Amino acid sequence: MTDLTITRIDVFQATLPYSGGTYTLSRNRTYTSFDATFVRITTSTGLEGWGESTPFGSTYVAAHALGVRAGIAEIAPHLIGLDPRHVDRINEAMDDALAGHEAAKAAIDIACWDVFGKAVGMPVCDLLGGRTDVGLPIISSIGVGTPQEMRARVDEHRRRGYIGRSIKIAGEPAADAASIAAALADRQAGEMFLVDANGGLTVESALRMLRLLPAGLDFILEAPCATWRECVSLRRRTDVPIYFDELAVTDASIVQMMADDAVEGVNMKISKTGGLTRCRRVRDMCIAAGYTFSVQDTVGSDISFAAIVHMGQTVPERYLRCILETRDMVTLKTADGPFEVVDGRVKAPVLPGLGITPRMDVMGEAVASYF
Ligand SMILES: [Mg+2]
Repeated sequence: MTDLTITRIDVFQATLPYSGGTYTLSRNRTYTSFDATFVRITTSTGLEGWGESTPFGSTYVAAHALGVRAGIAEIAPHLIGLDPRHVDRINEAMDDALAGHEAAKAAIDIACWDVFGKAVGMPVCDLLGGRTDVGLPIISSIGVGTPQEMRARVDEHRRRGYIGRSIKIAGEPAADAASIAAALADRQAGEMFLVDANGGLTVESALRMLRLLPAGLDFILEAPCATWRECVSLRRRTDVPIYFDELAVTDASIVQMMADDAVEGVNMKISKTGGLTRCRRVRDMCIAAGYTFSVQDTVGSDISFAAIVHMGQTVPERYLRCILETRDMVTLKTADGPFEVVDGRVKAPVLPGLGITPRMDVMGEAVASYF
C-alpha cells in the first residue's frame, strides 16, 4: 500500500444565512444563520480531502461553532503523520486527544473519507459498503408556524418536488395539533411526514396534543420530550411511532434505545454523531435492530449534503425513510458537484471521494492551520 499520511489540516469558516428568514423551533429558539466550519486535509501525496461541520446554532444539541473550531485545535496536531484511510484509527486518535465533542470530529472524519476515496479512485458510498440502486427520497425542513402558514409552506415544498418534510412544532398542545392537522391536510400518496417537537413537549402536553389530533394521520413523532425518561414514559402510553434525534448521539445511546425498546427509529445526523465512521456503525446497529431511520445533518451546505448522500446511498430501501436537503436551508453555495435532484430524489455521484469541488472564493483564507 502506498504511503499516505496527513501533512496539514486547514480550517475555514463561513456564515450560512437561513434561506427562510427566521427559523423557529420549540421553546422559542430562533435562528437566522449558521456558523459553518470546513476542514481541508492535505496529504503526503498531495491529495486533499474536505469535510464540513455546521451546528444548528448553540441551543440545539451540545455543540456550537466556536467549540467545533476549538475542538479541532485540540485534535488536529495529533493527526499529523497518520494515514487518513485508516478511519477507525483516526477516530481512536481523535478520542485520545479529546473526549466527546463529536461535532468537532465530524469535519475531520468526513475529510478523511474524501481522501480515502480519492486515493483508491472510489466514491465514498462504495467504501461505506457499496451503493444501493435507490434514488434517495429527499425531505425538507419547515420551522414552527401557524396552521395556515404550515399548510401553505407544505404545499410550497410539495410543488418544489420534496417527497416529505420534517415539520416543527412549538410545544403547545392545541396549537400543535392544529398545525399538524393543517400540514397533513393535503397529504399525497407516498409523502412522508416527520413531526418534530425537538424535545419541546412534556409527557402531559404530548398526550394532550395526540388526543386532540384527528384520527388516521400518518406521521412519525420525532424527539417529543427533552429527556430519556419522559420519552420512554410517553412511548409506553401511545401507539404513535417515535424517532429519537437529540437523544440519539453516541453508540451507547443507540444500544440503550434497543434495551429500553424506546423507539421505532432514529434521525441520524452526521455532525451530531461525529462523522461517517461513527454513522456507519449507527447504521449497522439500526439495521440489526430493525429500526427505520433518516440520514440528515443538523444543517450545513454542499459538503455536509454530499456526506449525507453518500451515507444514505448505502442504506437498504426498506430501512431508509428519507434524507434531508440541507442545501435548501441555506443561501450560500460552498462547493460544486453532481448532486442533482430528479423527481424528489438524488443519487450519489460516481466520482472518487465525496465528488465535490469546494469554492475557494467562498472559503477564503484559512482561519487556522496545523502541520
Ligand atoms: Mg429532529
